[in-house]
Amino acid sequence: MDTKVAIIGGGLAGLNAARLLDQAGIDYQLFEARDRLGGRILTVNQAGSTDEDGFDLGPSWFWPRMQPAIGSLIEELGLPSFAQRAEGDVIFERMSREPALRYPGGRQEPVSRRLEGGTGALVRAIEGLLPGDRVHRGARVAGLCLLDNGVELTIQFQDGAGHKVKASHVIAALPPRVLASSVRFTPDLEENDRRLWDSTPTWMAPHAKFLAVYQQPFWLEAGLSGTVQSMVGPMAEIHDATTASGKAALFGFIGIGARQRAQMGESRLKQDCLLQLVRIFGERTAMPQTALIKDWAADPLTAAPADLDNSGHPAGASAWVSGPWLGRLTLGGSESSPKEAGYLAGAVEASGLAAHAVLEA
Ligand SMILES: Cc1cc2nc3c(=O)[nH]c(=O)nc-3n(C[C@H](O)[C@H](O)[C@H](O)COP(=O)(O)OP(=O)(O)OC[C@H]3O[C@@H](n4cnc5c(N)ncnc54)[C@H](O)[C@@H]3O)c2cc1C
Repeated sequence: MDTKVAIIGGGLAGLNAARLLDQAGIDYQLFEARDRLGGRILTVNQAGSTDEDGFDLGPSWFWPRMQPAIGSLIEELGLPSFAQRAEGDVIFERMSREPALRYPGGRQEPVSRRLEGGTGALVRAIEGLLPGDRVHRGARVAGLCLLDNGVELTIQFQDGAGHKVKASHVIAALPPRVLASSVRFTPDLEENDRRLWDSTPTWMAPHAKFLAVYQQPFWLEAGLSGTVQSMVGPMAEIHDATTASGKAALFGFIGIGARQRAQMGESRLKQDCLLQLVRIFGERTAMPQTALIKDWAADPLTAAPADLDNSGHPAGASAWVSGPWLGRLTLGGSESSPKEAGYLAGAVEASGLAAHAVLEA
């Protein structure tokens, strides 16, 4: 399995790097620790399984005018998109002791767009372009060891088997914090690099999404868009999550901190989120067909321990690797992007730059 380029991570960034190397005819192998591709992109059906026409528990939106990198990729892949619903009134919950306020919803600028089928469509489209024997799921990279002529990767497969792979170059398409905390480096990283990686927050990693699926989008009948801003909680923001195919749903970002969520437990959280929906949208919200929570902070392949307390935006840096690893290792995940770091667009930008650097080398 030895290869020219080893890609760590099969999120959007790793997949895009693989796509670009594939187009250039460069030999590569991609190693993804989970048994699914997509990373923070997770589109599921009501049973919580990944699906071609599902609901986004990770990213939902992109802004093609502001973020041309993701807009162009989506266009190139021929993926249809639609605007996030904005028609209808919005609700603002300011305090628990006063009734919620209702305002006419304004036109959103820039318009948030969603992909038909969910953002999982991006993952499927790129995966479909890659030869299956180059993409390895359930393959966690546990260690990187610098050799005279390349890098040796220690891969831990889900069945317990270990494997060594040699590569001339490594593209690490994952958050710097997760890389620093989960992969052993021999020799160790330069102190400055480790400090930079450790201090770079993983965008959205401390967050959790609540999703409720309904028979009908009855909030629309009441003239509501589904958009809520709340200072009461537990959800701080709620939005319409109805699919392009018409499956009705609402989703919310839970405003309670990661550590408190862990103490509360999922069933209590679900119950409190449903109570909030009933308070705002009425009794019909009490019995969804499905209610799901995805807590990204509880997912060690997305959130490093430091992410639980630090939800800031990645600040960006001009250089991510120095010392002996320079020239053998390139960071290519969204957080290391010089533009739109943390976003889907950042994943496309950073992986494009990483693939370009490897091609140049
Ligand atoms: C709830 C939520 C909402 C969001 N909303 C938006 C939005 O609306 N718009 C937007 O633009 N962005 C949004 N984002 C951010 C967006 O999801 C990310 O920018 C993007 O998905 C990052 O892609 P990536 O490939 O760089 O990283 P990731 O998706 O994190 O992929 C990294 C991959 O590396 C794998 N991995 C980790 N460690 C190892 C290892 N040791 N060996 C092998 N594999 C490993 C992981 O399993 C993962 O698959 C959101 C994120 C979340 C969580």
